[in-house]
Amino acid sequence: MLKKLIPTYYYKSIYDIPLQELYDSGIRLILTDLDNTLISYKETMPNEKLFEFKKEVERIGFEFILVSNSRKERVTNFAKAFDIPCVKFSTKPLKRGIKKAINKVAKKKYNKDEIMIMGDQMMTDILGGNRCKIKTCLIRPVDKSTEINVTKNNRRIEQFFLNRIKKRKKYKDIYNEKLKEFDEA
Ligand SMILES: [Mg+2]
Repeated sequence: MLKKLIPTYYYKSIYDIPLQELYDSGIRLILTDLDNTLISYKETMPNEKLFEFKKEVERIGFEFILVSNSRKERVTNFAKAFDIPCVKFSTKPLKRGIKKAINKVAKKKYNKDEIMIMGDQMMTDILGGNRCKIKTCLIRPVDKSTEINVTKNNRRIEQFFLNRIKKRKKYKDIYNEKLKEFDEA
């Protein structure tokens, strides 16, 4: 179980992701979470900086798909404004929504090692990605203070597992490298 919560990569924010490096390592499709990954729960629309990020993602040559657990209209509205395909109510950490993005929404067929999911929650984005055996990228939440109750509850569970990972000798290096900063944020 603990192993399935450990991301392939960790970065402070999406703007710290070395996109070209990931592309060169073979990644071609990026699935992204919305809430607290691209924008906070309070925001509804992409800002200038986010559009710049997307431009860079596309310039390098990635395919980019939004995969959100939210059922709300704001996901569709955001995706439209951001001009990116989306799967909403994706039920992460279940495989369903992620598989739909990979098999039905993506324009091309990709091998699993060409796909990465990025998000701010270990219990949904990372666990879901690892279950699908794709690469996973954990980033720190944009603004924790805006989180809704479901997410707050997920955070409590996340913290429980973070503490367990922290205590395990065999995960010491992994914790320090990929989770410490996230944990202490
Ligand atoms: Mg999120």
